Amino acid sequence: MGFSFSRRFHQSARALARNLEHRYRIQTAMSRYYAQRDEMRSRFRDWQSARTAAGGIKYEAINRMDKYLVEFADRISARGAKVFWASTGLDACRYIAAVAKAGKVRCIVKSKTMTGEEIHLGQALEKEGYQVVESDLGEFIVQLRQEAPYHIVFPAMHLSRNEVSAIFQEKLGSHPTDNPEELTLIARQALRELYCTAEMGISGANFAVAETGMISITENEGNARLSTSLPRIHVAIVGIEKIIPKVADLALLLPMLATAGAGQPLTCYNTLIGGPRQPGETDGPEEMHVVFLDNGRTTLLADSEQRDALHCIRCGACLNVCPIYKNIGGHSYGTTYQGPIGSVITPHLRGLQSWKHLSSASSLCGACTETCPVRIDLHHHLLQNRRNAVRQKPTFTEQCMYRIFGFVMKRPQLYRWASPLIRIALPLHRKIQNSFLDPVRAWTQSRDLPPAPAQSFKEIWRNRNAP
Ligand code: SF4
Repeated sequence: MGFSFSRRFHQSARALARNLEHRYRIQTAMSRYYAQRDEMRSRFRDWQSARTAAGGIKYEAINRMDKYLVEFADRISARGAKVFWASTGLDACRYIAAVAKAGKVRCIVKSKTMTGEEIHLGQALEKEGYQVVESDLGEFIVQLRQEAPYHIVFPAMHLSRNEVSAIFQEKLGSHPTDNPEELTLIARQALRELYCTAEMGISGANFAVAETGMISITENEGNARLSTSLPRIHVAIVGIEKIIPKVADLALLLPMLATAGAGQPLTCYNTLIGGPRQPGETDGPEEMHVVFLDNGRTTLLADSEQRDALHCIRCGACLNVCPIYKNIGGHSYGTTYQGPIGSVITPHLRGLQSWKHLSSASSLCGACTETCPVRIDLHHHLLQNRRNAVRQKPTFTEQCMYRIFGFVMKRPQLYRWASPLIRIALPLHRKIQNSFLDPVRAWTQSRDLPPAPAQSFKEIWRNRNAP
């Protein structure tokens, strides 16, 4: 199985890396993002200190997660919401399906939730016979195309206006247009009625505030507000790592998320939801459920070396600067979370051996670590994943290579004899390069083997004072 994930990744990555149209599209979108992000960062008095402070908030939250989660659950339960603790994705899907059944639900509107994507919630509910409609514009488009989101923040960034128009014509019977306003209007018309008829709304949460027992949702389209307030049942699916201690923490985290994620000072709609409709209130759902999802997060929590990966606020900034992501795109990864953060956490969430290849899809340039608004040490975590994979289950080739390397390096005399042999072997290797005899063909197919130096460092050092 692990082999097939890895093979699919390599096949797709190889094809897309050569697709110049794809590269142009992604880089055009990114160049706009870089300009806006830099402008917004400059509005902070000191962006680097803000990163340290945001990382500190998440450090406190994750290290005392048990306390804060219970505090949150007590507060929101007191206002009538039900809290369910789901160990796995299957537990979460079953619970939500049971809530839908009890509430005689037929139609569900879903706002953007990566946690929902992670457990394939939409597909699970569709299998049970419910109509599930994505209400975020990007998610709606990729749902019509039966595709996974392409990016944590911009699910349809890989599509041109003409491609969006084509899918609207095919699925919604609309007229052809490449005008963005008209395209938005077409989607809006299709969705508006559903908000009023759907019996259940599903959302994620960007943060869960322990102090007040409220979830915080930040968005640009207003669809999450409609999905969580018009249907009579609201279900929020929330990863346990979304907990934060205080409501005042949002004063820093919300602008940082908007700046790093989309180059905005703040997103357009920021909502705090603290339970179902209370007596005397005029709107809001009759029932509210918060489903806290573990699904491998506590395994990551137990790993003191990589625990800080749980600090992630899903801004997507590390994807935007990653040279690998920008060339191979989001779908090549085959994961819910793509780019550097996906490569770090997917092996923890879905199995190290099956997903270890993602940790090698990195130039280790450190751009991801440098941009992360909560200072997650992403590129070192990729190295740690590589090391852990080899330690857990070294392959035969790796075992032989490292043993030979260790054997030679511990014996200086042998090393001295071996060095000239390598200089002889390299020119010979050039002749068979890229043929089926080439033992490192995968590497040399897209790279030149550097020529061997005429002298080794030891020889240069020995001869440094020679006349
Ligand atoms: S790892 Fe950092 S940069 Fe990447 S999505 Fe998470 S918070 Fe954003």
